[in-house]
Amino acid sequence: MKLNLKDTFNKELPADVVLENTRRQVTNACFSYVSPKKTTSPSLIHVSEEMLQEIGISEEESKSKKFLNVFTGNSVLENTNPYAMCYGGHQFGNWAGQLGDGRAINLFEIEHKNKHWALQLKGAGETPYSRTADGLAVLRSSIREYLCSEAMYHLGVPTTRALSLSLSGDKVLRDVLYDGNPAYEKGAIVSRVAESFIRFGNFEILSSRNDVENLKKLTDFTIKNHFKHLGKPSKETYLDFFKEVTNRTLEMIIHWQRVGFVHGVMNTDNMSILGLTIDYGPYGWLEGFDFGWTPNTTDRQHKRYRFANQPNIGLWNLYHLANALYPLIEEVKPLEEILDSYKTNFEIKSLAMMKSKLGLFFDDENDLKLIQSLEDTLQLVETDMTIFFRNLSDFNVDKNGFDVIKKAFYDVENISDEVRNQWNSWFSQYGKRLKQEGFSDKERNEKMNLVNPKYVLRNYMAQLAIDKTDKGDYSLIEELYQLLKNPYKEQPTQEKWFAKRPEWAKNKVGCSMLSCSS
Ligand code: AMP
Ligand code: MG
Repeated sequence: MKLNLKDTFNKELPADVVLENTRRQVTNACFSYVSPKKTTSPSLIHVSEEMLQEIGISEEESKSKKFLNVFTGNSVLENTNPYAMCYGGHQFGNWAGQLGDGRAINLFEIEHKNKHWALQLKGAGETPYSRTADGLAVLRSSIREYLCSEAMYHLGVPTTRALSLSLSGDKVLRDVLYDGNPAYEKGAIVSRVAESFIRFGNFEILSSRNDVENLKKLTDFTIKNHFKHLGKPSKETYLDFFKEVTNRTLEMIIHWQRVGFVHGVMNTDNMSILGLTIDYGPYGWLEGFDFGWTPNTTDRQHKRYRFANQPNIGLWNLYHLANALYPLIEEVKPLEEILDSYKTNFEIKSLAMMKSKLGLFFDDENDLKLIQSLEDTLQLVETDMTIFFRNLSDFNVDKNGFDVIKKAFYDVENISDEVRNQWNSWFSQYGKRLKQEGFSDKERNEKMNLVNPKYVLRNYMAQLAIDKTDKGDYSLIEELYQLLKNPYKEQPTQEKWFAKRPEWAKNKVGCSMLSCSS
């Protein structure tokens, strides 16, 4: 394995002077050196052939003992210095102080094909930031992260990626339901890849400690290495930086809304400074279109991170990033203006996104109303979001709309006349509106199919892969990995995954409800 190593974070930013791996507050530093934990009997479950190519490792090399050892933390690649990052965060609306990479260990950074990548292990043992937890990850959550991050990438959603999924061979104790019944589960390690894993929280922790010197170092570092086009650091550059982070964050969330992805834990420590979807925990996919849905049982009461609230939370998180960057800018007004632009841009971009889902490209003053009325109608009875939008592209004015989208209803037998009438009335407006567009039905169908995925990682699909993998059968991981590489294409042999959630999955743990215990 000859990797083009290009470490920057641990070379250019201040390191924790303490080298012992003890849990503590780490000050005056951006990271702590730490070695991954040796595992009992590591074994590979899956490797992403695409990420291998991206980082310049051959398939042959990925089968070597060395690959396995490096990407399970059992050996450290020569000339590299693994470390855990120091960050803080606002969790569920409250400042939580220092959090940090409690179970993520950064291995190294590389450059390949003009791209910069940071590689890290999730679940490779404790770090100074592990607080009261063990630094480990279980198989179920690792499969969910591995499959979903790659699926999101192919859906066109900005995201961190995954290179490999392995079993550690160790057992990990978890209380899945937080009901006092902990049990041992298989431990696993995902190697994740991203241009950078810096989060809003990396800035927040320094700012909260009044460590302006290191706050400036980190911000300058981020601009120099990841926002180079913004130019040399200055007050203006910091504002441009904040503006770009704001735009990227909004862009990412609009994509989430488009595909029906609910992150589940949008704490500021889970917000990437590059606007990437990061930290796949108790996330979920909308089955029935429901603005109020959240997959995270920890959030069941207040539903802070519910589907419809994600754009607001994005703004709330950016407000806290603005606060963190304030000492470098010392002017409130321009920061406020950027935050205000988020609201305006959200209205514009969200409308454009919804219009694209409906195959509407010209402007009409009633479009917003048409979309709001669709969103209301979609929530009358349980209606599968993915199937609805995918099948909508088959509609034309000569067809009965209700019949076209019928497959999306979870209980079609019991739909009342009233609901049926609402659908008929919506389709009649939609049909009229379509006549204003210049595209043929076929053209519209093709355009809509590029934004309305046919295949997403439905919650129960990940669970089926988990159950099989747990029994030692890795075939479903491979099947789903391949399926989700082409989410917008028709895959006739895989039609079975274009189906509503089966009844058994409705209230099953892991399918509709997830806790943070991963
Ligand atoms: P999360 O909400 O999963 O993003 O995690 C919030 C914080 O808890 C981060 O600092 C994580 O690194 C840390 N954390 C989560 N799970 C573990 C674990 N099993 N061991 C150590 N730290 C953890
Ligand atoms: Mg996290």
